[in-house]
Amino acid sequence: MESVETLKEALTGSAEIIARSEAHVMKTYRRYPVALVRGAGCRVFDAEGRSYLDFVGGIAVAVVGHCHPRVVAAIQEQAARLIHTSNLFYTEPQAALAERLAALSGLERVFFANSGTEAVEAALKLARRYAASVRREEGRRKIVSAFNSFHGRTLGALAATGQEKYHRGFEPLPAGFEYVPYNDPAALEAAVDEKTAAVILEPVQGEGGVIPATPEYLQAARRVTQARGALLILDEVQTGLGRTGWMFAHERAGIRPDILTLAKGLGGGMPIGAMLATEEAARGFEPGSHASTFGGNPLACRAALAVLDVIAEERLVEAARARGERLLAMLRELVRCHGLKEARGVGLMLGIDLGRPVAPQVVAAAREQGLLINATGPETLRLLPPLVVGDEEVDAAVAALDRALAAVMGTKG
Ligand SMILES: *Cc1c(COP(=O)(O)O)cnc(C)c1O
Repeated sequence: MESVETLKEALTGSAEIIARSEAHVMKTYRRYPVALVRGAGCRVFDAEGRSYLDFVGGIAVAVVGHCHPRVVAAIQEQAARLIHTSNLFYTEPQAALAERLAALSGLERVFFANSGTEAVEAALKLARRYAASVRREEGRRKIVSAFNSFHGRTLGALAATGQEKYHRGFEPLPAGFEYVPYNDPAALEAAVDEKTAAVILEPVQGEGGVIPATPEYLQAARRVTQARGALLILDEVQTGLGRTGWMFAHERAGIRPDILTLAKGLGGGMPIGAMLATEEAARGFEPGSHASTFGGNPLACRAALAVLDVIAEERLVEAARARGERLLAMLRELVRCHGLKEARGVGLMLGIDLGRPVAPQVVAAAREQGLLINATGPETLRLLPPLVVGDEEVDAAVAALDRALAAVMGTKG
């Protein structure tokens, strides 16, 4: 088996895969010059068989690692049984996943989508429709979000994204969106009024550079939305499912949102998103209000159920907390040794602020050392290892990053 694989990989080398992609795939990404063919746990392998420690994790998707045997078996079994039905019919995997997510989150109703941006889109639509059709307040249209946030690329989620650079050239965006500085309770207090349908926040800004909300900020968001009759949407597409050392990052603040969005880690790599809501908020949708052809199909739901099983059985929430604390301490040591600005984050969602615009060079140097990480901006590195990462893998990653930093900064680790 192995020799056949190796032979195939040799026939289609990285250079050929890259050239063919560059010829016809739309150029929306600036990609790293690596063509991956296989993954197992925290490691991925390129077409030449070179192994990398994967601390990008498919952008926070590989919560249970690559090709976890439980997830692979669930997908294989379900694929042979029934892949898709549409939502005109009931399926057992979807019923089971809805039940599990409701029990985990305390939010009784789920709408299934296929991605993070679609989960956010559903959340924004539900918030406005709840105001109009349940509260009968047609004027309550405004959505308040934070500067530096990221909520997705479809037009509604893009409008909620408080970063000018993502909007440019796509105007006009849907109206009724307003932005406030993150982690500033007074600014939120001033922006939320009788015209506000919802506030949407990430408990940790991910694409914005790994910036955690203070628990007090999330508590203030809960208080002010409740007081003014607006809904609180927490976008946990990146932070959800154990990533931060909590099943959901908002648990850290001891609050519960009205609406919660999930995606990235949920399907173990199968595309699936979910928008959860309280029974009350969910009254905003009725048959025909919103839909998705693929959303919650049996294949994606079975994969997600396997992911949730693995998270529970391997105690990955606790693991993320323990490994995250250890990794953060080691990153702080790197910051000290190399004269960088700051290491920060929660659980296994970590960032390093280099204090200098050399993040792309450090990412490339780390890759040379066999470590995959990415940059959220010119000065910020982000580390999102699978939650199954072991202490030895953490040690190896830190050693590789140490060498990469030394090479780029000319410092000694
Ligand atoms: C990645 C991300 C999204 C968008 O998810 P896609 O699956 O890429 O559409 C939305 N919100 C947050 C917080 C994210 O990190």
